Parts: sequence; C-alpha cells; structure tokens
Amino acid sequence: MGRLVRGVLCWLSALLVGAAHAGALTYEPVALGWSHDEVDQATRGTASALAQRAEQTQRLGCQRHCDRLDAVFARLVAVARWQSARSMGLRWSLTVVRLDDVEAMSLPGGQIVISEAFIDRRAQTDEALAFVLAHEMAHSVLEHERQALTFARMLLPRHVPRTVRDMYTEMDYNIGLLKAMEPVVQQGELEADELGLLMASVAGYAPDAQLRFIEREAEFDTLAARLVSTHPPAQVRLEQLKARLPWARRLFDDGPAAAEASWPQGFGAR
Ligand SMILES: [Zn+2]
Repeated sequence: MGRLVRGVLCWLSALLVGAAHAGALTYEPVALGWSHDEVDQATRGTASALAQRAEQTQRLGCQRHCDRLDAVFARLVAVARWQSARSMGLRWSLTVVRLDDVEAMSLPGGQIVISEAFIDRRAQTDEALAFVLAHEMAHSVLEHERQALTFARMLLPRHVPRTVRDMYTEMDYNIGLLKAMEPVVQQGELEADELGLLMASVAGYAPDAQLRFIEREAEFDTLAARLVSTHPPAQVRLEQLKARLPWARRLFDDGPAAAEASWPQGFGAR
C-alpha cells in the first residue's frame, strides 16, 4: 500500500523501465505518444521563461513564505520520488515567483512553479500549501501532460507527423480541440487531487485540513462561466476527495515511516 500510484505503472513496468536504462531492448509498456524525454524537452523552458519574466519585474523568488515552502516541498519530494521508477529519477525543483497572474503549475520533468501572491490568497496554512504542491507534483508523477497530448493527437488527422511543439501550436489555435480534450484533462485533475491528497498525507499533513483548500474553492467557484474548463467544478473535486478521506487518514496516522517500510525495494538509493 506504500505505493499510491496504481494502474499505469505497475511493479513489472518499473522493472522494465529499470532494465531499459541498463541497456535492455525494451521500452516503457504504455500506449502514450512521444517519449517522456520528448515531452520534457518541449516543456522544459516554460519554468525558466516564467522565472525570466518574474526577474524582469523584480518578482522572482520568495519573500514571505520561504521557510514554509522549503519545508513542505522537501517533505513532499521525499514521498513523490517513491511513487514510480520514473518519479525517482525526476529532477524535482521549486521555482517561486511573486506574479499576480500565476497560481501553481507543474511541468513533466518535475519542475514546480508557485506564486507567493497565490499563497497569500489561497494557501495560508501548511496543509493547504502541501495539498497545492502535492497536486502539482502528482501531475508530473502521473504523466498527465503526455497523456493529454496523446489524446489530442488521436483527435487530429492521422497521417500528419507532429512533434510535441506542433501539438502546442495546434492547441493555441484550435478551440474545438481543447473543448474535445476537456474530459481527459478534467480526469487528470481528479487524479492529481487524489494522489496529491494521499502523498501529502503520507508527508505528514492532516488530510481534513488539506480539504479546506478545496472547500474554499467550492465557495467561490466560477468555472461554470468558461468556454473550456480545464478543472472540474470544485464541488465535484471536493466530493471525490471526501470519499478518499478514510484512506488518507490512515496514511497520515501511519506516518512516513510505515509507508516507506512497505515500498518495494529496488528503486535505488534515496
Ligand atoms: Zn492540476
């Protein structure tokens, strides 16, 4: 039960991935378009571009929440890297900006970006901050960007070769494609909520207190007015998270030591 990721990457696939790095003639047994590295390379510049924009207006780096961010992120990384063979190898990093138009985001390679303006508005407790960061990290662990890109590729004409960057260009101009992707993208958000809640619980953040972040979101939910909604209604997210509370409470009560004891051996040194 220590590993919270189920389905996409099973223990067997973890072994195969490990074997691939050792030079074996195998590959990740998942039906996703493009490799993890291709998606990582196409998106890697996003965090640095955001940091550059923040730097130009003297809004790069933390000012008010540095200690909290360091402590929460370190505890979450210790949990996140044990979720799969691939998450063990991700270069987890946290970039803090102070931009009003940025909330929190993650990139496939494990780069997390968060704005202190967002923390001030919506994540003032450690539990809320842990939930937000763990949700973003869950997107990286579960390869949601690669999944969404693959789904988008399936909706477009087959015989046109497309790179990951071609897909982002298509998404910039094709609102119909974005609308068609909505169910898959929203499902990814629900998965990130669930894994985020569980990982933050293992990391020592009380699950009931984490849920207050979404409860507050539900009070001010305005997503219904948008043409394309990347996130499900907050009330739907809240109901799903409530259903996972008993599991999250057990993980929280058992603590990180118990979870680590049940992790499979073989992911390498921590
Ligand atoms: Zn998300």
